Amino acid sequence: MLVADHLRRPDGRVLSCSAAPMVAGALSAAGHRVVTGTVQLLQEGPGSDRRAAVAPATASAHWARDDLGAEGSGGVAVVVADAEAGLRPVAEAAVASWARVMGPRTVLLASPRSFCAGVERAIEVVEALLEQQHGPGGRRVFVRKQIVHNTHVIADLTERGAVFVEELDEVPPGSLVVFSAHGVSPQVRAEAARRSLTVVDATCPLVTKVHAEARRYAERGNSIVLIGHAGHEEVEGTQGEAPDATVVVGSVRDIAGLDLPDPSKITYLTQTTLAVDETRATIDALKERFPQARGPGSEDICYATTNRQHALQAVTAEADLVLVLGSENSSNSVRLVELARKAGTPAQLIEDCSRIRPDWLRDAATVGLSAGASAPHDLVRQTLSALAGLGPLTVHERITTTEDTYFAPPAAVRTTR
Ligand code: SF4
Repeated sequence: MLVADHLRRPDGRVLSCSAAPMVAGALSAAGHRVVTGTVQLLQEGPGSDRRAAVAPATASAHWARDDLGAEGSGGVAVVVADAEAGLRPVAEAAVASWARVMGPRTVLLASPRSFCAGVERAIEVVEALLEQQHGPGGRRVFVRKQIVHNTHVIADLTERGAVFVEELDEVPPGSLVVFSAHGVSPQVRAEAARRSLTVVDATCPLVTKVHAEARRYAERGNSIVLIGHAGHEEVEGTQGEAPDATVVVGSVRDIAGLDLPDPSKITYLTQTTLAVDETRATIDALKERFPQARGPGSEDICYATTNRQHALQAVTAEADLVLVLGSENSSNSVRLVELARKAGTPAQLIEDCSRIRPDWLRDAATVGLSAGASAPHDLVRQTLSALAGLGPLTVHERITTTEDTYFAPPAAVRTTR
């Protein structure tokens, strides 16, 4: 099937079908082979808006047009070759389902959203190394784990030459390796040294701060209650700083089962990307059980996580649907979706606009849109463009705060640029 991203009409005018990525995405997800491209309509008679002849003449187009759209925009078209006539009902049904959700729509754009300073720094590290190692004699750039939790970022850097591995035993001895933004445990650092690897550390400075806290309090003989998601890379890294002194707690429910040697020597730390409200509840429960438990001087949940949650809350109440751009393994993106749902608004986590389904948009005249801290800004722009393909789109940006945090890349990279 061919999904039109442009539709050249018989009179020569060209309609931009910017909803094409969504239409193609839904058809692909249903198991169909789909490409996108320009479609030339040969004729369209009165009332033929949903069916028209198309070049080559051995194909048929099924399309719906948004009459409310601005000049030259709007329209959903799916083309099937006659040889695949069995797919025509599929194309017709796809067009009909998107036609049902065409119309004017408002997007409330949460701000801040997308990349945080730690993510930008980590990506900059890999990009700088790829640039430095490009050409004859250059070394391969290995990255342990995903540099940040986003599928698009990983695909882009892979295409540019980065080699992502899960563990260091996949890296040839003596190679160059980058540690991801989520940080690593001292055990991983020791393993890198054993394998004579050249390490460039892209750990976010705010994660490094939590590691330092774990070491400091463990050295004082404190038990460390680490609030976070067991198995998450950041939690594994922090726990690794003081494995014997640390117990990981996922939620309020885990507090009752805690067995700590000295109630007067308890420190709690948190993963940087947790839900602010839920974490507060967990800390309250911990303090209720262990009144002498103390936290660090400043919050571990980072500024970017906090800001994105506040921004999302500012759009959720007015939205019929909330869309959050981000990958499934992105903790802060998942928290944004949970936050919206907790407030009673339907919410979906999407890798990109191709994951949007027409059913979600029915009755969704107002859409709240945000992106997790590891999701590129471009994905937001593409999503707005795709939604605009379904009718006139009004975008209101809701800015709850502005960010100017910047983390300089590590010295090893600075000297290479
Ligand atoms: Fe650093 Fe926070 Fe971004 Fe994580 S989400 S990389 S802790 S700034």
